Amino acid sequence: MADADTPGDVNAVIAGLLRDLGAVQAMRPKRFAYRRAAAAVQSLEQSIGALVDANGALPKMPGIGPASARVIREVLETGGSATVEAAIDAAGDHAEIVRQRSLRQGFLSRAEVVRILGDAGLPGPALADHRGDFQMHSEFSDGSATVAELAAACVARGYRVAAITDHSHGLTIAGGMTMAEAAEQRRAIDRVNAEYGATFRLLQGVEANIDADGRLDLTDDEAAQFELVLAAPHSRLRRAEDQTTRMVTAVRHPHVRILAHPRGRMAGVRGGVVADWRQVFETAARHGVAIELDGDPARQDLDAGLAALALEAGCLFAVDSDAHSPEQLSYAETALAHARLASIPADRIVNCWPLDRLLDWLARPAR
Ligand SMILES: [Zn+2]
Repeated sequence: MADADTPGDVNAVIAGLLRDLGAVQAMRPKRFAYRRAAAAVQSLEQSIGALVDANGALPKMPGIGPASARVIREVLETGGSATVEAAIDAAGDHAEIVRQRSLRQGFLSRAEVVRILGDAGLPGPALADHRGDFQMHSEFSDGSATVAELAAACVARGYRVAAITDHSHGLTIAGGMTMAEAAEQRRAIDRVNAEYGATFRLLQGVEANIDADGRLDLTDDEAAQFELVLAAPHSRLRRAEDQTTRMVTAVRHPHVRILAHPRGRMAGVRGGVVADWRQVFETAARHGVAIELDGDPARQDLDAGLAALALEAGCLFAVDSDAHSPEQLSYAETALAHARLASIPADRIVNCWPLDRLLDWLARPAR
């Protein structure tokens, strides 16, 4: 039943059960209400058990009505919810609930992320080691903010470096950027760098799309115009067949420096690319390509489990937010929590490197 990586992640357990309860509702408004309640619990900063008062009463929480509060009380008292299990039995479609539960494995709630980052006993990078973010989207593709607004938010988080990585022109569904728009964006980035001087460096990156054969939607000349090329899969994410060749081809591309959200999974919805990940990671390690831990709460891709395999294969890592607005830069903390759970040394994480080492790696990735 537990959706979490760690058994103590009560908020993830509750959110999962509320999603189950939503999934078996016949009426759309009820489905949405439980989904909203699940999202509210998943994004709480504190474990819900800590919010209960001395009489066992829950405080009023936005998005959480009486029926959801009952599920929460049941989980706190018994570890499960008889109400949810009865509703699933009554609806009769067990197989679909089992499928959805399997697609929520390895996801951390926000409260669990906060707990992991605050646990000084865990190895791996601390929040203060994370000096930059290498996946974020501006209004040049599907983000909401300007380049200058994102840069200001990065500086406010204490970053020394960051990369704007809008989608490339092949991904029209996400407002992919034409090369003319990329030239305009370059001027906006130059203005930011002129303003901040030596205190902060903004790179022009791009999130290139990996096609069915592992090729990118950028020519070599186009890719060479960016300072950082991420490659990421956005299609064929629900197939059962092996796609190792596709992913190996992508990480062998001479311009690619980061394999972003490697599986393309989405919580409760799809598992993403199926591949022999050891082979993909060993190829990435040989070519100096960093494997991304994408911190979007619905992605968490890689999570700690698969990241440990990449660590064993000798990979470098990128710990990124995949933010589409300045507020979402905090998603990097979700990725960082997985890096801590996987015991990835800060030295293997490109976001933790001094700027000169980072620029050197971008120029000559293979060691
Ligand atoms: Zn993407």
